Amino acid sequence: AVAVLDEKISDLYEQVVARNPGEAEFHQAVREVFDSLGPVLAKHPHYADAGIIKRLTEPERQIIFRVPWIDDQNQVQVNRGFRVEFNSALGPYKGGLRFHPSVYLGVVKFLGFEQIFKNALTGLPIGGGKGGSDFDPKGKSDLEIMRFCQSFMTELYRHIGEYTDVPAGDIGVGGREIGYLFGQYKRITNRYESGVLTGKGLAWGGSQVRTEATGYGAVFFVRDMLAAADDKLDGKTVVVSGSGNVAIFAIEKIQQLGGRVVACSDSSGYVVDEAGIDLELLKEIKNVQRGRIGDYVNARSSARLVTNGSLWNVPTDIAIPCATQNELNGADAAQLVKNGVRVVAEGANMPCTPEAVRIFGEAGVSFAPGKAANAGGVATSALEMQQNASRDSWSFGYTEERLSEIMTSIHDHCLHTAEEYGVPGNYVMGANIAGFTQVADAMLALGLI
Ligand code: GLU
Repeated sequence: AVAVLDEKISDLYEQVVARNPGEAEFHQAVREVFDSLGPVLAKHPHYADAGIIKRLTEPERQIIFRVPWIDDQNQVQVNRGFRVEFNSALGPYKGGLRFHPSVYLGVVKFLGFEQIFKNALTGLPIGGGKGGSDFDPKGKSDLEIMRFCQSFMTELYRHIGEYTDVPAGDIGVGGREIGYLFGQYKRITNRYESGVLTGKGLAWGGSQVRTEATGYGAVFFVRDMLAAADDKLDGKTVVVSGSGNVAIFAIEKIQQLGGRVVACSDSSGYVVDEAGIDLELLKEIKNVQRGRIGDYVNARSSARLVTNGSLWNVPTDIAIPCATQNELNGADAAQLVKNGVRVVAEGANMPCTPEAVRIFGEAGVSFAPGKAANAGGVATSALEMQQNASRDSWSFGYTEERLSEIMTSIHDHCLHTAEEYGVPGNYVMGANIAGFTQVADAMLALGLI
């Protein structure tokens, strides 16, 4: 029976590949979930009979649009915009916007697909979606960013809404961009509809802790993984990749909990600082000056810059990849294992290649997938939606406590599910099965949609 089932899942996977040619990242994300579904379909064959998998892998709606804008030289530029409204069984589509030259439909679909299960795991009423553009914010002036965001929203506004689809930030989209996007939405619609976007500024409908949430949440998840093994963060060495919003606040929370972060990176290289990363300096360089990671070394004598080679060669107890998809490959994983890594948690979306994940598994390294470990960002977005709907705003302490509880509940849910399905300690299967069954049950209840 298991062989027949495996064959059925492989067939379904081949169909997804054939229907979505050239979208390697989307195929990878689908494969990763499908590889967890054997035990679920064995226990609950009705999911397959009802066509749940076929329906889940086809987005409900995909929007592709032109984004024309004028640069500082008065030249017309054209980018491509995307919004993939993947699944709304649990609530309005919810997920970020990514502005990066690598963005194309396959990347948006991979992110949107992951988002369905991640959002389900939060236990909050949000469906899955994602969007973005191949626009490259690097080196653009503030006015160029504003004009681009205004043009992007001039098309997007007709597709979104508090009860329909609620975008937020992702790579290349932070508080500044959400501000320009919200301003344009408000101008076009003449509605102060706070609940249409999350990640807003604190003065105009944003939530405390939203900026910190993805990084803090990932570290809360690591805290809970360590606690499950009777261990704690205090005194541990940690390597964090990236130096964007997720990485910075992961570093902050690790330091608050007594861990020592010895390395971080950006696309130009990585820094090693055995004295521990100076977070105020990193924030100043990245958030205020919008500079490169090399600037950190110029201002700090204990640090060195490495521009070739892999960050994952730096020995560490814990690794938290917070940069981008497929940044940590099989060779990196083997090196981390050799250096004695014990816990790996994905702060970014799908930063570890399938081979890396396999190597961690075989070595007995505790591994948390992004859809569980980085769910704190979107969970806090859902808390922002709650505050907007009730015209309220909560304190930092209360909101952080809610985030911490949500992360613990995701952690425990993954572990219990893994246990229930006969794969104890396997966070990947626990997360995929728990997310999948929740969405599948809702889809069954709602009929053929
Ligand atoms: N972009 C984030 C993620 O990957 C957050 C999305 C949101 O807050 O809607 O989950």
